[in-house]
Amino acid sequence: MVRYDFESLKGKLTREILASRPPTLWKWREMLPVRKAEDCVTLGEWMTPIVDAPKLAAEAGMEEGGALLVKDEGRLPTGSFKARGLVMAVSMAKELGVTRMAMPTNGNAGAAMSAYCSRCGIETYIFAPEDTPDTNIREMALQGANVWRVNGYIDDCGKIVGGGKEEMNWFDTSTLKEPYRIEGKKTMGLELVEQFGWDDLPDVIMYPTGGGTGLIGMWKAFAELKKLGLIKPDTKLPKMVAVQATGCAPMVNAYDAGEEFATRVDGAFTRSAMGIRVPAAVGDFLILRAVRESGGWAVAVTDDAIDEGVEEFAKKEGFLLCPEGAATYAAFKKGLADGKIKKTDRVLLFNCATGLKYPMPPSNNDIDRHEPIDYGEIAKGI
Ligand SMILES: *Cc1c(COP(=O)(O)O)cnc(C)c1O
Repeated sequence: MVRYDFESLKGKLTREILASRPPTLWKWREMLPVRKAEDCVTLGEWMTPIVDAPKLAAEAGMEEGGALLVKDEGRLPTGSFKARGLVMAVSMAKELGVTRMAMPTNGNAGAAMSAYCSRCGIETYIFAPEDTPDTNIREMALQGANVWRVNGYIDDCGKIVGGGKEEMNWFDTSTLKEPYRIEGKKTMGLELVEQFGWDDLPDVIMYPTGGGTGLIGMWKAFAELKKLGLIKPDTKLPKMVAVQATGCAPMVNAYDAGEEFATRVDGAFTRSAMGIRVPAAVGDFLILRAVRESGGWAVAVTDDAIDEGVEEFAKKEGFLLCPEGAATYAAFKKGLADGKIKKTDRVLLFNCATGLKYPMPPSNNDIDRHEPIDYGEIAKGI
């Protein structure tokens, strides 16, 4: 973990100073590890908006004071919040003179790494499970990565990266094998605290959990903001909820069993939420610790509930979630049903990637323009 000298920074970094800076991830420079401005490899990491879902909140029976909100990370470079972690890891690699990086990925992390590395001239080797969506594989290749499909899971890909360190002389950028991706993901916590007016954080944060960098990072962010005096010592922190898919829920199993570490899930499966198909996470104990310290919980949702969530958000709110984001919505409904979420809670979901990167249900309605157009038929709708 990166540690900072917050004592000497205390009082110097104020809310006013932060408010005066352009709303990008780099406004938090003093709380980030990159030292030289010229080492920041940016593609425009703009602050992501928090969008509300009033219709679905009303349908769920949310009451006065309560809200259903989505932090939309799909607007970041390469279309996912992996950009936050990788912009930091790659910038630090540049600063430290690394010339070759490798990683296992379920798609989005590799896309972000290849983009930032190509931008600053670092060579990349990426290994992805063979069923990773083609869009992701092609994106990585187009952005200059040496990308390989592997007949296994992300941790099997991780073994290839680890095993090649000596011979290939590459830097292992796997989740939590290096400290900087967490620092980048930490900015989600910093950003949302400022967006919520500093001392009035949401009651519940629902996070689709794979390797857990975001959850761990946000929890670190809140602690650091308290240390710096940027939020009050008694500010109530959100309950952190780790959301997984029923076909791959190692954190949920460990949480339910009261364990400190998680057991690897064999035969892990999710239909579409690849970003959370992580059978074993290096930082399992850190995820579980943050969830428990915050008074949150871990919950698994089905693939059907995920697909329904995508459809409901798209049709009713006009918001195309990624499947992992839809998992948090399914977990929200479950939390309301079993009383863990109150109808007056402000609940923040994470949409971690743009829904446009994922396969969508088909739509096959064709018109032959050479025939008379039957508007009566069109008016019936689809
Ligand atoms: C990586 C990823 C996740 C999981 O994030 P972690 O911080 O690694 O747990 C969730 N959703 C999407 C879309 C992802 O790409």
